[in-house]
Amino acid sequence: MNAAVATRSQAAAVVTSRPTLTADLTAVAANTRTIATRAPGAALMAVVKADGFGHGAADVARTALAAGATRLGVTSVDEALELRAARIGAPILSWLNPVDADFGAAVAAGVDLAVASRPHLDAVVAAAPGTGPARVHLHLDTGMARDGAPPAEWAQLCRAARLAEQRGQLRVDGVMGHLACADVPADRSNAIGRTRFAWGLEVARSLGLRPAHRHLAATAATLTDPRTHHTLVRIGAGLFGIDPSRTVRLRPALTLTAPVVSVRRVRAGTPVAYGHTWTAPAATHLGLLPLGYADGLPRAASGRAEVQVRGRRRPIVGLLSMDQAVVDLGDDDPVEPGEVATVFGPGDDGEPTAAEWATWAGTIEHEIVTGIGARVARRCRTAATELWSVR
Ligand SMILES: *Cc1c(COP(=O)(O)O)cnc(C)c1O
Repeated sequence: MNAAVATRSQAAAVVTSRPTLTADLTAVAANTRTIATRAPGAALMAVVKADGFGHGAADVARTALAAGATRLGVTSVDEALELRAARIGAPILSWLNPVDADFGAAVAAGVDLAVASRPHLDAVVAAAPGTGPARVHLHLDTGMARDGAPPAEWAQLCRAARLAEQRGQLRVDGVMGHLACADVPADRSNAIGRTRFAWGLEVARSLGLRPAHRHLAATAATLTDPRTHHTLVRIGAGLFGIDPSRTVRLRPALTLTAPVVSVRRVRAGTPVAYGHTWTAPAATHLGLLPLGYADGLPRAASGRAEVQVRGRRRPIVGLLSMDQAVVDLGDDDPVEPGEVATVFGPGDDGEPTAAEWATWAGTIEHEIVTGIGARVARRCRTAATELWSVR
């Protein structure tokens, strides 16, 4: 071992910085405003499910509300109650509500509930805590065959909801649908979904319901088809700079960095990591990053993924491990332990983006940003201070 290598090993012992995920809330605010201008006639619901797509649900909720959103959407009652616990008072809709969800707590906390079946409706009525009628949004399946009510059950659901409304047990505040292929505007299913939604609204009306909120569009439909806007659009991906329609410039908000914790020089012919899937073609320096697939770097990206170190793209070599990634730093520009690698970011300085990681792994950006593991430290950047704060 030469002196330089010994120095690096000693330096590695004092490296303390951790892999860190930074959410740029100024980007979330800008994206919210950009999308609001594309749907001027509709209110904007900020969808902050899955911890705000990995960006921090409460931080994103506050940011989007300050930038023009008026409502929040989440998947589960638990997610909604977490936002209430963070003292967020805006209207919240929870849409995936198994019959055994805590509807009593939800209604007591003023959380609106999507309802897609008679058993759901009955469970909400039974659990309503007597603090006033539960507010529900009836959910019609407009082509997903997932969580909305099948059209064959729609009239019956509307009728039962109207009856409960007349008894003062609940109020139907909304009707919702969801499109399966909105990212492909020409897909026939979009017209079918729009028509089915219009039919569902008409059925609800004819049975006496007067839902104030009628909503079909998520990000892609909002950006490509004003006929889907109705009174409210539900925006998730777009808040975070993901534009499935590729029609507007949005800003990615997440940056993932990790320190190089050690550097070693290897000879040509040195095989690297599990399975020896990569062998150094020439002498080089290998840097170690302390994160792997348990932290959300998809193992399927092994062999293609890159990070940025000292302003240069460097390949991750060999198979990604659960907790570690090996980077080929080259032989000409020695990197010191403690220097920080950018795993992905907005791409401003040539660093990889989450979209590139998705391509490398054969998935979509959503899965990359929502998949970053709990061991990674979180912080955010806010407009007020331009400072980075730890959450
Ligand atoms: C996730 C989700 C959204 C948000 O979709 P994006 O494409 O991320 O904007 C809207 N509605 C429902 C029902 C969802 O599940």
